[in-house]
Amino acid sequence: MFGSKPLKIGLIGLGKIAVDQHIPSINANKKLTLVAGCSPSSRPDGVKAYNSYEEMVAAHPDIEAIAICTPPQVRHVIAQQVINDGRHVFLEKPPAATLGEAMAIKALAAQKGVSLLASWHSRFAPAVERTRQWIASRKLKSVVVHWKENVRQWHPGQKWIFEAGGMGVFDPGINSLSIVTRILPGAVMVKKADLHIPGNCEAPIQVEMDMLTTNGVPVRAEYDFLQTGIQTWSIFVESEAGEKLTLSMGGAELEIDGQVMAKEKEAEYPGLYAHFHDLIKSKSSDADFEPLRIVADAMLLGKRITAPDYIE
Ligand code: NAP
Repeated sequence: MFGSKPLKIGLIGLGKIAVDQHIPSINANKKLTLVAGCSPSSRPDGVKAYNSYEEMVAAHPDIEAIAICTPPQVRHVIAQQVINDGRHVFLEKPPAATLGEAMAIKALAAQKGVSLLASWHSRFAPAVERTRQWIASRKLKSVVVHWKENVRQWHPGQKWIFEAGGMGVFDPGINSLSIVTRILPGAVMVKKADLHIPGNCEAPIQVEMDMLTTNGVPVRAEYDFLQTGIQTWSIFVESEAGEKLTLSMGGAELEIDGQVMAKEKEAEYPGLYAHFHDLIKSKSSDADFEPLRIVADAMLLGKRITAPDYIE
């Protein structure tokens, strides 16, 4: 497989993220070829599209790897089928609707000897590694997460997001947790969570959560899907010495003590696809479920508060 020929990739789920990120990132990588995609109804330009995975692989049995870009609720069943067929798998985030499903996917991939990437695109944001290094040499006083966006602007028509397993505001919020679990030493434990769930929905629209790392650092997170005006995807870190770091724009911008250290354009998916290719080449996997575990813990421990109905 790893001669001069590009790796042949198929996509399942041809919605927003497939169009915005997966298709252009695969097309821009010379080591990859986008062979085809499948989706019940979406038919984006420039992709040979089929109604189902079965139809797609019947027409293109040479597809070696699949990126699953569906909503999380159907990911486990699809991943199982793809892995049983001996194909490598790139899972969009979150890796599945439950921790149990994610663990089953990981075990099956190991058993079948295929590579699995449970992707966390925000970990590939340009300033995340620099933030991790800054934190590594300091004692921290506190961490605060503000992940506040307008669901009507960013997720129009995505009914699945407020259905059971869609995770509501944790759908974007889990991206912040993927960064937090990368940059902080020690595990992150949920201590308290207020889950505001609209009366006509099954998943939260706003969450306030208090966490504590096993090193004793308090982490406060505020997630809001009803944010209008300025949209915020920021993490504020304060050291015991009083230094202040702000990682903003989902990890693209970094400010330390008021000084801009990085202000870069988002380029997460090209990095993710290069990583996926490397994993397959080295016959390995990358499947860390800590961000999903924290969301699951919040759902276990959290207090449910009924919020006004959500009307799109
Ligand atoms: P979306 O626009 O609703 O797209 C999901 C697509 O999956 C739709 O095109 C839908 O089909 C397809 N689909 C649903 N059930 C399927 C099935 N059983 N088999 C095959 N295809 C199926 O949602 P999205 O925004 O792309 O999000 C998808 C995933 O990517 C989510 O887990 C999300 O967290 C993640 N993600 C999204 C973003 C973002 O900015 N939107 C960013 C990063 C990650 P049809 O349209 O054909 O009916």
